[in-house]
Amino acid sequence: MRTPVIAGNWKMHKTVDEAIRFVAALRETELPGNVETVICAPFLALPALVGEVQGTRIGVGAQNVHEKNEGAYTGEISVPMLRAAGVKYVIIGHSERRTYFAETDETVNQKVKAALGGGLVPIVCVGEVLEERESGKTKEVVQHQVKQGLNGLSPEAVAGVIIAYEPVWAIGTGKASTAEDAEEVISFIRKTVADLFGQQAAGQVRIQYGGSVKPENISTYIAQPNIDGALVGGASLQPESFSKLVQAA
Ligand code: PEP
Repeated sequence: MRTPVIAGNWKMHKTVDEAIRFVAALRETELPGNVETVICAPFLALPALVGEVQGTRIGVGAQNVHEKNEGAYTGEISVPMLRAAGVKYVIIGHSERRTYFAETDETVNQKVKAALGGGLVPIVCVGEVLEERESGKTKEVVQHQVKQGLNGLSPEAVAGVIIAYEPVWAIGTGKASTAEDAEEVISFIRKTVADLFGQQAAGQVRIQYGGSVKPENISTYIAQPNIDGALVGGASLQPESFSKLVQAA
């Protein structure tokens, strides 16, 4: 059985104080034990968040990481730095990073390897843009992203990865994919993992849906056999809606 993961992606939102207040409010709510709950926050808020979630079931994640451990890379943060701060997860290759910060399948692959090598759980984002969906290329695009992003990993390593299928046209738009369409692509991603890394890795790897997930629609995704939770942007910013999402999962 795969444990579902609900991961909030705060993007460039929340000061340190706001992050602390969020966790204080979230701690007042009932979080179920059978769901892995993760908050991916801006770098500055991570040390405070790690402290605030002590004694809860909430894990803390970053939204990006550099592939090198250290060096002359002004402005960057490395895997050992995140680990030393108590961070456990990292989002890699979010579509906003691919679009605005020139991330490629190649950099995604390097970052995934660095994260796994340093003991972080990577949440690897894949997904097609609207034009690709409309021209029937969705599966081809995600297959390529999965293949390149996980290139060179062992089946054991792949089993510990979280893949987030996020159709780009559904992110932050309010136009969520239907649960059936998301299940179709996610089961295809699982088959792709099976073809590349074997049945065992495919049975263990967790694959989330992301794109305009809200408390009102989360249960439709969770009900699908291959969808193991969600990566959530907008609806993760308020403790009330985030806790409802976790409860509904
Ligand atoms: C995201 O940022 O990964 C995301 C899915 O955003 P939203 O939930 O706001 O669509």
